[in-house]
Amino acid sequence: MGNVLVIAQILDGEVKKSTNCAVSFASQVASFLGGTYSIMALGDDLSGQTEVLSKLGADKVLLAEAAGLDENLAERWMPIIEQAIKAGGYQVVVSPSSSTGKDVFPRLAYRLNAGMASDVIGVSQDGGKVSYVRPMYAGNVNGTVQIASDVEVVTIRPTEFDAMAPVDGMSPVEKVAVPDAPEILGRIQFKGFEKSVSARPDLAEASVVVSGGRGLKSEENFKLIEALADLLGGAVGATRAAVDAGFIHNDFQVGQTGKIVAPDLYVAVGLSGALQHVAGMKSSKVIVAINKDEEAPIFQVSDFGMVADLFKVLPELTEEIKKVVK
Ligand SMILES: Cc1cc2nc3c(=O)[nH]c(=O)nc-3n(C[C@H](O)[C@H](O)[C@H](O)COP(=O)(O)OP(=O)(O)OC[C@H]3O[C@@H](n4cnc5c(N)ncnc54)[C@H](O)[C@@H]3O)c2cc1C
Repeated sequence: MGNVLVIAQILDGEVKKSTNCAVSFASQVASFLGGTYSIMALGDDLSGQTEVLSKLGADKVLLAEAAGLDENLAERWMPIIEQAIKAGGYQVVVSPSSSTGKDVFPRLAYRLNAGMASDVIGVSQDGGKVSYVRPMYAGNVNGTVQIASDVEVVTIRPTEFDAMAPVDGMSPVEKVAVPDAPEILGRIQFKGFEKSVSARPDLAEASVVVSGGRGLKSEENFKLIEALADLLGGAVGATRAAVDAGFIHNDFQVGQTGKIVAPDLYVAVGLSGALQHVAGMKSSKVIVAINKDEEAPIFQVSDFGMVADLFKVLPELTEEIKKVVK
């Protein structure tokens, strides 16, 4: 029997959907191990999130509250999580593969002398062990790995796991003791958190994404992408080439070194479909591509393709959709 601990992702007082995805992953792993899963949250004051977290079917919800924890500093979070894992005897600890997860979890694995599987996209049971599937070589190969250490440290790609829906009943809530801040914090200063503000949905969680590439040719032309995204209530995405050319801020980059997205609809406009871009969007449910080059690799992964000049068809498409979308 082995139990699983999920570290919740909270931003601006909101429990992120990626937490629910990590919880559904944890519930599968716990069932393989014949154990239970618990959820741990860290923050200055978690009174606003406790109810949401306690409706996710967990064995218990652990709250670590102390001034400064909202800063998400890995140096501050890590010893608190380490202590909770040791006290609870958890076998598997999981977090979304967010910037916090990527920052905290490798350090945690080191401290626990544990093996780690990052960016996990699938899970199965193999004898008494859990097998984790993770992309390698920019998504060209999927590796299946098992972790041999007593504690298994895992980050998951949230887009690959359904979000756990709220359940009836409430999990018991426990406050955990927060160890004193480690000495290293005396040498680190939190300066601030700059969040990109947008009226559009969060790129990583949007159900529609309209992305533009180098084919857009300018920042001004990206307004064509924005117009279609707004019409569909979607987010705007971009390729690295478009970002590097200064057409759009790198917050919008989709791909291996950008955001990983898996919307219901992904519209790819004037982008070639390079491996590193496709690595970040290939799990989208429906992919529509517009490219003037019929040989463009994006057509190999798209469900619908239009070989056309984007400057002609994109405004026409937007006008036609306007007629049917209120
Ligand atoms: C380590 C590494 C990491 C990387 N990470 C990422 C990443 O995270 N995300 C990412 O996107 N890239 C990433 N890249 C870059 C990637 O390899 C490509 O260079 C990039 O994705 C290409 O962007 P693009 O498709 O916009 O440009 P291009 O490849 O230049 O494609 C432009 C496309 O627009 C089409 N086009 C041009 N004009 C029109 C028109 N008028 N109408 C219709 N179509 C038109 C062309 O036919 C062409 O297919 C990475 C590269 C490396 C080496």
